[in-house]
Amino acid sequence: MGELYVDQTRCQGHARCYMLAPETFEIDEEEGYARVVEGREQSYTEEKVRKAIRNCPERAIKVRGADGKDEDIS
Ligand code: SF4
Repeated sequence: MGELYVDQTRCQGHARCYMLAPETFEIDEEEGYARVVEGREQSYTEEKVRKAIRNCPERAIKVRGADGKDEDIS
C-alpha cells in the first residue's frame, strides 16, 4: 500500500489542497508548505483527496509505493 506525501521541493504553499481536503492536508505556518496530516497517509483513495491531488498546480502531491518509487495515481 502506498503512502501519500507532499513533495516540498515542488509545493508553493498556496493551500488549495487544504481547502479541498482539510482532514488530510495541513499547512506548516513556519515553512509555508503543505504536508499530510499524521495518520492520513492512506487517504488518497478518498474522492476529496483525489480531487486535491488533481488540483495541485505544482503536481506536488504524490503517493510513494512500497518500493520507494512514486505511483501513478492519476
Ligand atoms: S495545492 Fe499543491 S502546491 Fe499548493 S499547498 Fe497544496 S501541495 Fe502545495
